[in-house]
Amino acid sequence: MQGCKRCPLHEGRTNIVFGSGDKNANVMIVGEAPGKNEDETGEPFVGKAGRNLNELLQIAGLARSDVYIANVIKCRPPANRDPKAEEVNNCSEFLRAQTAIIKPKVIITLGNFATKFILKTEVGITKLHGKPVQLGNITVFTSYHPAACIYDPAKREAINADFAALKKLLAAVIK
Ligand code: URA
Repeated sequence: MQGCKRCPLHEGRTNIVFGSGDKNANVMIVGEAPGKNEDETGEPFVGKAGRNLNELLQIAGLARSDVYIANVIKCRPPANRDPKAEEVNNCSEFLRAQTAIIKPKVIITLGNFATKFILKTEVGITKLHGKPVQLGNITVFTSYHPAACIYDPAKREAINADFAALKKLLAAVIK
């Protein structure tokens, strides 16, 4: 992706946030797009949402080093707006390539945007969260976006419960 100029997001970016983690991971986490901290560092989920994600991973019995983390979109949208359809179309080849190389057994989608993209659904996260879906060889587990839970105690409780359920799912899927 180095020097990628496929879409106008390259104009405002500091770094491409390609993804990071164990290339042999059984578990891949997919978020939406980089925020300010991620754009500055080139690493996914390093800001407040990232600290929240680290706590959730602990609940599921995972360390960050156990997983591979990527976003649907690799460059920060201005003011963290939702990515546009053409940006997703331009960028999705890279997430597909990452998935093909890593071959995860489980994909965790965080939030509506990543969930709709991976599951090709219009059903919202409120209905889908915590329920695994089989997509060929891959089990997709969806939950809320960790950023959405920071100031919402009800969502916080729901996402904690999802990651506790995920721990059981991982024990069954990854032997
Ligand atoms: N939110 C995301 O969806 N991805 C990141 O990398 C950071 C925040």
